Amino acid sequence: MNLNFSETEKMIQKVAREFAENEVKDLAELIDRDSIFPEDTFNKMVKCGFTGIGIPTEYGGSGGTDIEKVIVVSEIAKKCAATAAILSIHGIFGQAILKFGTDEQKSKYLPLVANGGKKGAFALTEANAGSDAGAVKTRAVLDGDNYILNGTKCFITGGGQADYVMVFASTDTSKGIRGLSAFVVEKGTPGFSIGKIEDKMGIRASETVELIFDNCVIPKENLVGVEGKGFKMAMISLDGARIGVAAQAFGIAEGALEEAVKYMKERVQFGSPIASFQGLQWYIAEMATKTETAKWMTYRAASLRASGENHTKEAAIAKLNASETARFVTNLALQIHGGYGYMKDYPLERMVRDAKITEIYEGTSEIHKVVISRAVLG
Ligand SMILES: Cc1cc2nc3c(=O)[nH]c(=O)nc-3n(C[C@H](O)[C@H](O)[C@H](O)COP(=O)(O)OP(=O)(O)OC[C@H]3O[C@@H](n4cnc5c(N)ncnc54)[C@H](O)[C@@H]3O)c2cc1C
Repeated sequence: MNLNFSETEKMIQKVAREFAENEVKDLAELIDRDSIFPEDTFNKMVKCGFTGIGIPTEYGGSGGTDIEKVIVVSEIAKKCAATAAILSIHGIFGQAILKFGTDEQKSKYLPLVANGGKKGAFALTEANAGSDAGAVKTRAVLDGDNYILNGTKCFITGGGQADYVMVFASTDTSKGIRGLSAFVVEKGTPGFSIGKIEDKMGIRASETVELIFDNCVIPKENLVGVEGKGFKMAMISLDGARIGVAAQAFGIAEGALEEAVKYMKERVQFGSPIASFQGLQWYIAEMATKTETAKWMTYRAASLRASGENHTKEAAIAKLNASETARFVTNLALQIHGGYGYMKDYPLERMVRDAKITEIYEGTSEIHKVVISRAVLG
């Protein structure tokens, strides 16, 4: 196992770091305050090829694997977690089509989401089906050449902007999770509308919405994979998505650590920079240790996924650990800023708010412990 970046990976990191510094950092405060979806930044990420990472070049993507994705998402998360979340979650749609879609679906959707500026979303959660994803009530009934969808999804990231949504619905309610199936629903389909737009604690520039399907008719060709395999497809998709959340989380931690180090060298109390106080130096040591650990566990999961090996346990461990690290490191980084950290003049209060979501979405920490313990206990 090679723990050093290749020359290509180093180059991608440099490009992503410069992009985050020049195109992302200065907007972070504004788009958080006013909950603005960063459309221009998204389009620039398309131009840079970031949205195409992990999609083969034959489908208009940039090629590459989850390792490159982790590099880019984490670099962006250092400066703006919401922008990183938008990029990371957009990618789940394309990955699901790549893995489970028909040749027609791949040819139709992949070039558009990889480099055509179209956006994807992933809609599994419902009001009474969160951790218990098998309790989905949205129904899809085959009627001639169409499926008719009825139901409501909640908390869907980017659902309002998405051109294509991967929707999980039951095609046979008597079979529980074995009755779930996946469908592509395109923006503008009659019967498909956006409901409540959530007012959130963090990642505020990434819109989170309710999606309503009211006798929404979609062609039967929009079924992804086969009927009844939707739950398995969702879980496999989440293995990849969790590596994306881990990348967001350790990126947030790296960003907070950088801010803490900078501030400690500038801030003077008792006649010395606060960096000279051993109590705070020990904070930095703990923050750096946890951040490095989170980073390399995430790359380990990404490298297993890149080589096609099973990575369910490793992705869950990486996500659980990185998200706890993000919470720990952002809290200490705010503490190091004292009262100034509590004010919006500094980015720490935003980073603390943004870090929290990484412990909740794509499966809560508790559900990750269920996944990990199952894998370990057998
Ligand atoms: C900002 C945001 C964006 C999101 N984006 C998306 C998206 O794009 N697509 C999508 O489909 N979903 C999305 N979600 C939904 C998210 O994945 C769910 O919120 C999450 O899986 C938890 O479900 P829940 O909120 O219903 O909590 P619940 O499942 O009701 O959990 C409540 C509490 O009980 C605990 N718990 C539940 N079951 C167990 C158990 N078996 N053992 C121990 N503890 C348990 C949980 O860990 C949690 O602490 C998003 C959520 C948020 C907040």
